[in-house]
Amino acid sequence: MSIAINKKLCIGCGACVEICPGSLPILRNGKALLPRPERCWGCCSCLKDCPVQAIALYIGDDIGGRMTVKKDGHRLRWIAALADGTEKIITVDSRDANKY
Ligand code: SF4
Ligand code: SF4
Repeated sequence: MSIAINKKLCIGCGACVEICPGSLPILRNGKALLPRPERCWGCCSCLKDCPVQAIALYIGDDIGGRMTVKKDGHRLRWIAALADGTEKIITVDSRDANKY
């Protein structure tokens, strides 16, 4: 499991820098970077707060592939790009967090 920041999409808002509990992303020349990716434990806070889906989580193809998240009010739309070229969208209501 790892995350990757797409520099082309990043608008340098700094949200990932603010939210990361490990202070891992940094801003340089108006773009976010992850200098020590091996320290990331994949909590996904930065994915959820990135306003332009510039951060992706990579997990095994069998359980999702490449995932990004889009916020829509209380809803989080997890978009999984699967190895076969298709997409799967899983919508989660953030108000239900910790419910299960
Ligand atoms: S996934 Fe979590 S630990 Fe990793 S960079 Fe993002 S906020 Fe930090
Ligand atoms: S939250 Fe997204 S757009 Fe903002 S600095 Fe981080 S990667 Fe760039």
